[in-house]
Amino acid sequence: MPLTREKDGKRLHIKSRLMGESLVRKSLYDELDSPPQVKLFPDVNVVKIGGQSICDRGKKALPAIVEELGSAKKRHKILVTTGGGTRSRHIYAIALELGMPTGIIARFASTISEQNAILVSTLLAHWDGIRIHQDDILKIPTYFSQGCIPVVQGMPPFDYFALPPDKGRLPIHRTDAGTLLMANLIGARSCIFVKDEDGLYTDNPKTNPDAVFIPEIGARELLERDLEDLVIEPSCLEILINSPSIDRIQVVNGLKKGNITKALDGKRVGTVIYRD
Ligand code: ADP
Ligand code: MG
Repeated sequence: MPLTREKDGKRLHIKSRLMGESLVRKSLYDELDSPPQVKLFPDVNVVKIGGQSICDRGKKALPAIVEELGSAKKRHKILVTTGGGTRSRHIYAIALELGMPTGIIARFASTISEQNAILVSTLLAHWDGIRIHQDDILKIPTYFSQGCIPVVQGMPPFDYFALPPDKGRLPIHRTDAGTLLMANLIGARSCIFVKDEDGLYTDNPKTNPDAVFIPEIGARELLERDLEDLVIEPSCLEILINSPSIDRIQVVNGLKKGNITKALDGKRVGTVIYRD
């Protein structure tokens, strides 16, 4: 970046591309042609273990999933994230009733997905599971070189600064969104959501027996379909559409043995939502 000296010779300026820009001018964004975003860790797979759908099932679900992740680590680098689940919903209900702001509610949710990160990393101890903090993300190559499986909470660190939603006061970026944001940040190889249904349906299959399975769909198309209920947080769809580094996410049923491995191996399983 060249330095320029004012005519009176006194002040030195750095000539930079954004100098004097408000960063608000709309046409600026059409003019900015930047090189593609660097993929920091393109061989790392981000795998979210659902809170309500998996962790809350305890012994009925977690040991088998942890074992599957443990055996997959020989062939894949896996960064595990965790959801919150029923305990998050419980504190959401109390906090809403007491008139708490979104930022406080988001802060509560962070602590619960953190509990599940401690839980999952402890169960993974035999396979060198290691609980990490979001700030450790740039150190993950070191963890992988030691054969570890890093586990981090899924809730994004907006905490007190969580955006106020359109309706209500629940944070819109919860653990699904945090997982996808993490995958986007590191330019991950894949972003896999492990839940308790085979993938996305036209409606919640737990309450609507006529719900039809959707094996593959574009994020934009899914937003346009405006379904009553979704298997992932709707904010993920917007993040995926805007992501410079992630072009698909996959939702798989972790209660069926082998599904996580298939997804890690790039096989067709569950639902793929792609950037359209
Ligand atoms: P997590 O534990 O990862 O946070 P959630 O429990 O929040 O997962 O979301 C998964 C649940 O979403 C499924 O168990 C399912 O009952 C429900 N669900 C709602 N709408 C849909 C849909 N359209 N397709 C599939 N599952 C859906
Ligand atoms: Mg959820």
